[in-house]
Amino acid sequence: ASSTALSPLTIRLCGPRGFCAGVDRAIQIVVLALKAYGAPVYVRHEIVHNRYVVEGLEAKGAIFVEELDEIPEEHRAQPVVFSAHGVPKSVPEDAVARNLFYLDATCPLVSKVHKQAMRHQRLGRHVVLIGHAGHPEVIGTMGQLPEGSVSLVETIEDADAYVPADPDNLGFVTQTTLSVDDTAGVIARLKERFPNLTAPAADSICYATTNRQEAVKQAAPGCDLFLVVGAPNSSNSKRLVEVALRAGAKRSLLVQRAAEIDWNDLGEIRTVGLSAGASAPEVIVDEIIEAFRARYDTTVELADTVEETENFLVNRELRGIELTQA
Ligand code: SF4
Repeated sequence: ASSTALSPLTIRLCGPRGFCAGVDRAIQIVVLALKAYGAPVYVRHEIVHNRYVVEGLEAKGAIFVEELDEIPEEHRAQPVVFSAHGVPKSVPEDAVARNLFYLDATCPLVSKVHKQAMRHQRLGRHVVLIGHAGHPEVIGTMGQLPEGSVSLVETIEDADAYVPADPDNLGFVTQTTLSVDDTAGVIARLKERFPNLTAPAADSICYATTNRQEAVKQAAPGCDLFLVVGAPNSSNSKRLVEVALRAGAKRSLLVQRAAEIDWNDLGEIRTVGLSAGASAPEVIVDEIIEAFRARYDTTVELADTVEETENFLVNRELRGIELTQA
């Protein structure tokens, strides 16, 4: 150990951060399914976008696949769980056709967006989905409706270029994990162009996304560095990095584990903001704080905004198991 005094550093730890009720529920569904039906339990797509979570479940007997045809014949009686991001309608249909037993871990707030999209369509509106191309949630939401009934708009430029068949009959929904501010801009532009564009009955961006962005926005000004615990394929985590930069953090990085931090590259830092995406477990936040403590004379300041009390029930089939567990 060196005798040189460590330099002082303040970590502004944002709250709310990390796991949301939808992620928590999805992980519980896999764990409870393992208890109820034994290993293996198949999971279609990363249950939530986090390697640490996925590896933890793999160690318990979960097997991750991208498509249902990867499930071997002899395991068809074992359950397959659909990820929190939601799936196109063709996936449960395909599961039934293959005689698979599935448990849907789609977040109820994603299902709510699906229902809003279907409602627009039922009322004769073409659906505009604001979201990021290729994200599983976007694939799932588009797949609630027949091909051609949803148009994806990602940016203000897309909103400018969009040419609908019937400009007076449009309804929009959004991905749940978008930037609150960017989305407001895209919606404003669409409304300018299509004054009859109908909003969904309830906001599509979820409470967890909104709260995490707001907490980061308040903590970021004056931070020399802002770290967001999250995976590069996690939409809500990436948005937190952008929000931190825009709100005045000098630099912002996405990190998956403490070991990824390049300490020599951090330069002079006194104030570090810290948050975690909705799919990032708290144990990694702790690991990162410990890594700072080992290198700086660290003070942790809590930067809390609101308290979250959301809690979503697991699937009916698994509820009894949850009760006997206690
Ligand atoms: Fe549900 Fe929001 Fe969490 Fe996604 S981020 S799982 S929509 S609560």
